[in-house]
Amino acid sequence: MEINHRGAQRLVQQLRAKGIKDDRVLKSFAEVSRELFVPSGLSHRAYSDSALPITGGQTISAPSTVAAMLQVLHLGPRDRVLEVGTGSGFQTALLTKIVADVYTIERNLKLVGEVKDRLIKAGCGTAHLRAGDGLKGWAEHSPYDAIIVSAGTDKLPVQLLDQLKTGGRMVIPLKGKITLVVKSRNGLRTRQLTDCQFVPLIPGYTP
Ligand code: SAM
Repeated sequence: MEINHRGAQRLVQQLRAKGIKDDRVLKSFAEVSRELFVPSGLSHRAYSDSALPITGGQTISAPSTVAAMLQVLHLGPRDRVLEVGTGSGFQTALLTKIVADVYTIERNLKLVGEVKDRLIKAGCGTAHLRAGDGLKGWAEHSPYDAIIVSAGTDKLPVQLLDQLKTGGRMVIPLKGKITLVVKSRNGLRTRQLTDCQFVPLIPGYTP
């Protein structure tokens, strides 16, 4: 699909105005059509800074929320990233533009089917996608430089922390706040960022 350059640029301007400064993050928003990741009846709202409903009662997160979570991870081009909660696949697509390796897990089988096609259409087919319980992570490809959790929880997922490199970063909606967790040799450091509203992280997976 052709990129809607005007729409994407409008979104980039909104993100700059909201304090997003990381050039790699901003560039990724200029390179991916959000339109492709929202339901067709809502394409007129694709470049507005709002969360929108998608398949299965889930949501595509607001662009400024996605951008803030990506920015705080300080991602580099060689990084290997695990995403938990693929949703529409928009954030997955952005990640493919920023880092070397993207692994993403979604528990809703219908979404997984939709996302596969969409990522290919968006030219972001390099992401590794699988259906399953993201709370268990994807151990075969660990350790990760960064983990991004896209659904809300009240407890830090221990299995995910185990799959993070020493020096690795995890961003997660924890107890209603976007939270950065940094894993060091001496343990975990956490920093709360902004208030947020996310659909819940649901343990378990039944195909
Ligand atoms: N960032 C995504 C986007 O750009 O579209 C939005 C993700 S949506 C807010 C959260 C997703 O997490 C939903 O699709 C939901 O099915 C998924 N989810 C919830 N619990 C999960 C789990 N344990 N494992 C994997 N995915 C999960």
